[in-house]
Amino acid sequence: ADVRALGRSLSECRACPRLVDWREETARVKRPAFRDWDYWARPVPGFGPADARMLLVGLAPAAHGGNRTGRMFTGDRAGDVLVAALHDLGLASQPTSTHSGDGLQLYGVRFTSPVHCAPPANKPTPAERDTCRPWLVRELELLRPTLRTVVALGAFGWQAVLPVLGEGGWSLPRPRPAFAHGARLELPPTRRGGAPLAVHGCYHVTQRNTFTGRLTPAMLRDVLRTAALEAGL
Ligand code: SF4
Repeated sequence: ADVRALGRSLSECRACPRLVDWREETARVKRPAFRDWDYWARPVPGFGPADARMLLVGLAPAAHGGNRTGRMFTGDRAGDVLVAALHDLGLASQPTSTHSGDGLQLYGVRFTSPVHCAPPANKPTPAERDTCRPWLVRELELLRPTLRTVVALGAFGWQAVLPVLGEGGWSLPRPRPAFAHGARLELPPTRRGGAPLAVHGCYHVTQRNTFTGRLTPAMLRDVLRTAALEAGL
C-alpha cells in the first residue's frame, strides 16, 4: 500500500451521512463563479509526495475549494496563501494552486486533514472526526519512515493529530499541551529505529485569520521555515 492507493480507497468513502449529503449538495447548488465546474464532491485525499518529511494538517476541505477541485488547499483563498508561502521557501513548484491539473508539485511536504469531506460551516462534529480518524492513522503509518515534522494548522488539526501520533510511534507529553501559534513539541520515538518528530502549531490559513492579520504571511513563513529546516528540507 502507498499513499496514492490509500487516496483512491478514501475517495470512495461514504461513512458520514451528513458530510456525504453536504459535499453533494454543495456540488448541486455551486457558487455562481463556479457554475461551469463539475465539482469533485467526494472525499479529498492528502496531496504531496509519498516520502514527505513534513506534513501539514488542516481541518477539512472547503466546500468550493477542495470539494470542487478534488485537491487539498486548491481553488480557495486558504490554498493561495499557503502555497504562496511554500513557494517562497522553495517547497512548492509554483506560487498558486488553482486546479488539480495546474502542475503544482510540493517538495518534501504533504497536505492532509483529519476530516476528508467538506463539512457545513467548516465545522465537523466530534463523531465525524472520529469516523475519519482511521484514514489519518493509515496515512501517518505510511509516512512514518520519512516524516520529521508536522505543522498543525489550527486547534482542530492539533487536537486531532496529537493522539494519532501518540499511538503511531511517538511519545506524547502529559498533560497534552494546548494549541498555540508558535507552539513546538518534540516527540521521542517509541519504536526501535524511529526518529523524533517535531510538531508545530500555526494559526490556520482561513480567510478570517489572514484577512484580519491574525496570521500574517511573515508569521506563516516563520513557522513553515522552522519546520522545514528541522525536517532537513
Ligand atoms: Fe469518509 Fe472521512 Fe468523508 Fe467521513 S469525512 S465520509 S470518514 S472520508
